[in-house]
Amino acid sequence: MSEALIKDYGSPGRKGYSLPELDVVEKNPAESLPEGMIREEAAKLPEVSEVDVVRHYTSLSNMNYGVDSGIYPLGSCTMKYNPKINEDIARTPNLTNIHPQQKEKYVQGSLEILYELKEYLAEISGMDEVSLQPASGSHGEYVGLMIIRKYFEKKGETRTKVIVPDSAHGTNPASATMAGYNVVEIASNEGGMVDLESLKAEVDEDTAALMLTNPNTLGIFEKDICEIQKIIHDAGGLLYYDGANMNAVLGYVRPGDMEFDVIHYNLHKTFSTPHGGGGPGSGPVAVKERLAPFIPAPVLKKEGEKYYWDNDRPDSLGRVHAFYGNYGVMLRAYAYIRTAGAKGLKEITENAVLNANYMKHKLKDTYELPFASDSLHEFVLSGSRQKKEGISTVNIAKRLLDYKQYAPTIYFPLIVKEAIMVEPTETENLQSLDRFIETMKVISQEIEEEPELVRDAPHNTVVRKLDEAKAARNPDLRW
Ligand SMILES: *Cc1c(COP(=O)(O)O)cnc(C)c1O
Repeated sequence: MSEALIKDYGSPGRKGYSLPELDVVEKNPAESLPEGMIREEAAKLPEVSEVDVVRHYTSLSNMNYGVDSGIYPLGSCTMKYNPKINEDIARTPNLTNIHPQQKEKYVQGSLEILYELKEYLAEISGMDEVSLQPASGSHGEYVGLMIIRKYFEKKGETRTKVIVPDSAHGTNPASATMAGYNVVEIASNEGGMVDLESLKAEVDEDTAALMLTNPNTLGIFEKDICEIQKIIHDAGGLLYYDGANMNAVLGYVRPGDMEFDVIHYNLHKTFSTPHGGGGPGSGPVAVKERLAPFIPAPVLKKEGEKYYWDNDRPDSLGRVHAFYGNYGVMLRAYAYIRTAGAKGLKEITENAVLNANYMKHKLKDTYELPFASDSLHEFVLSGSRQKKEGISTVNIAKRLLDYKQYAPTIYFPLIVKEAIMVEPTETENLQSLDRFIETMKVISQEIEEEPELVRDAPHNTVVRKLDEAKAARNPDLRW
């Protein structure tokens, strides 16, 4: 299962090309280079043929696992299949051969695409203005909170606190802290939702915002959302919607209609653009009219049939990304939204919710289900029953790899012991859902009958169990 380094392939003199004999006889082209710039010995490059290169990289790619290999039910991450048409669109030469410093009048078509994407995102969330600049979900959160900061500054109010439920995504408290706020965490109730009494107890004239992940990281939709927004707005605070889970509600409810003031999207989750391994992503921020003056500059505008960048934004928090954001990701998301259409977007949600609930129903007798509330696009099980047999959730996750299935998110959300957070996504069919369910049951059986098989997993992956703390701190990236 190992693969040699490319430098260890090949042999001296082997090459990957054949060119005609050099017919420039008078003068060696290399001699026309300035003195001192000519190599004395050849560069130490691997001497390999084309087939060596193809086999080497194909072999490496086969060691990897991705959404093109099979189910990737990583809760909260929305690792769904990315249709290849998105890639075709993003590689269109007319779009890839332009430069952000070209004059507006020469790139009107490209600006039209970005403008339409903004309009779709505003419509889907029920918001008024959109910035496409942020490069990820967490970047969007940070930008959203800075917009909120600017808003209160302009009003002459100092508010220092941001309330974050304990069922929020981990980036929420981190972003609020980076934006200079004190984070106040509130506990969930036994249904896994915001506890209204705890919320009321924390909200006061010092509250800048509530950051809500909805559906939350348990996959549960906050049923008291109307009440929640009223509590915050009555105290003069603003409402921030973590929209990374929008695939659970597309076309069914809109954060704007729930009276939220700011939302970020994860184009690289909901709108199906490749992600993982650090990006690039795109985390557009959408706001209500009263916050529009504060969003990052420049803002894309339309006048008659003409698109232009509005740089005259005196209250803007400024630029948060070089040029206009991660354009390639936006093109893929645009293609995805256009190919799905309004009806298709609703079906995405229907399938995401159906798939997750089917799996939850089939697995809840084998693995403990700590929150029984109805859930949407993902659900959280607990491995605590298996833990009593001496097998931890991490072992279950590793054993799944032996069966050529990717493991769900584990040990998150923090409010569930031995958490197993599953998001099958809408792109899996019945066969692949059943295969995952069956594998999870087989592993539970193995824990009873042959626990060391699970404890020592994985057995047939490229590398065995890694020291995960060390792997993250001392990545082995070169030989
Ligand atoms: C993924 C996710 C984020 C963070 O997005 P990144 O693009 O990874 O920074 C925030 N909130 C929720 C609910 C998420 O699932």
